[in-house]
Amino acid sequence: MYELQRKRVLVTGGTGFLGSHLCERLLNDGHDVLCVDNFFTGTKDNVLHLLPNPHFEIIRHDVTFPLYVEVDEIYNLACPASPIHYQYDPVQTTKTSVHGAINMLGLAKRTKAKIFQASTSEVYGDPQIHPQTEDYWGHVNPTGIRSCYDEGKRCAETLFFDYHRQHRLRIKIARIFNTYGPNMHPNDGRVVSNFIVQALQNKPITVYGDGSQSRSFCYVDDLIEAFIRLMATPDDFTGPVNTGNPNEFTILELAEKVIEMTNSKAEIIFKELPSDDPTQRQPDISLAKEKLGWEPQIQLEEGLSKTIPYFAKLLQAQQP
Ligand code: NAD
Ligand code: UDP
Ligand code: UDP
Repeated sequence: MYELQRKRVLVTGGTGFLGSHLCERLLNDGHDVLCVDNFFTGTKDNVLHLLPNPHFEIIRHDVTFPLYVEVDEIYNLACPASPIHYQYDPVQTTKTSVHGAINMLGLAKRTKAKIFQASTSEVYGDPQIHPQTEDYWGHVNPTGIRSCYDEGKRCAETLFFDYHRQHRLRIKIARIFNTYGPNMHPNDGRVVSNFIVQALQNKPITVYGDGSQSRSFCYVDDLIEAFIRLMATPDDFTGPVNTGNPNEFTILELAEKVIEMTNSKAEIIFKELPSDDPTQRQPDISLAKEKLGWEPQIQLEEGLSKTIPYFAKLLQAQQP
């Protein structure tokens, strides 16, 4: 009976921040997990503790190339998520989103697997409505420095819907809003990891612009719960569905909170705001509440208190 419920689940981008938490959760739920990653931003360290599990397997592979494996479900997470990483090789970023989606959709079509796409709040661009609902088409610059990521993810959503309409694929699309937690790379460049690492080292906290721009931060465990619930919804529910924590903070508020919680002596310094940096971002999660029976349980202070020790340990290990 138990064996019948064991699914063969593919997680692309499985050694990254979100992917590593998802692999662990799927193994804990009793599945066979195949983690596929090219280690661009992911690291084996994130899944070292899973390696002894015989139901866990890693393949070094780039999703822009075809992949022939036999699976029941696919979570497609492969794609660098931090602006500094996705802007490092923007052409590869678009290829990863678009060719990667085509290959994973082709695989899902052949194996009749159900397929999940890690989409993003970036499909809304610099939004003109607030908070963002799923029916908002977005306000996206097609030619700017963030476009490789934003437009790549938008095209991936289009491909998912066309495979759904044309080939009857079972698809699930989550639009993920800023998420943080352990296993983020310390040099990832995203705001929560940057601020915590800077504060722990008593180095200046780099606020871009005047810090009045806002984001809504979700703790990783809450997000992974939403992924699992979305995958389990009836086949006629495809999403896209916003997944994130609606509690919104300015970047300056985040900097102050991190300094306070780390008892840091770090000062705040202001740096140039990168171009196309969205001014405001907050998910409307009514659809997730209705269809997934889900809402975040962990608020910013609690989430930071689970994340700060992770970075403190990493930094300690790096000391000579
Ligand atoms: P991450 O950079 O930690 O993980 C991405 C993983 O994908 C890494 O392990 C990387 O090595 C792998 N990868 C990149 N290109 C690949 C390729 N061509 N072939 C195979 N593997 C490849 O980022 P994350 O925060 O874990 O994000 C995971 C997914 O969630 C991404 O698709 C991202 O766009 C999406 N997302 C994340 C957030 C967030 O706040 N964390 C928000 C919105 C969307
Ligand atoms: N593909 C893959 N694994 C599979 C099946 C397909 O990687 O198990 C790739 C294949 O290389 C193809 C892409 O997915 O380029 C799209 O497949 P699809 O069947 O939709 O298109 P076609 O093969 O007809 O171009
Ligand atoms: N940011 C900042 N200092 C940093 C890193 C980021 O002020 O060291 C700002 C960034 O300009 C943006 C917000 O924090 O307004 C969130 O940035 P992140 O790269 O984490 O994600 P984004 O939501 O922009 O993709």
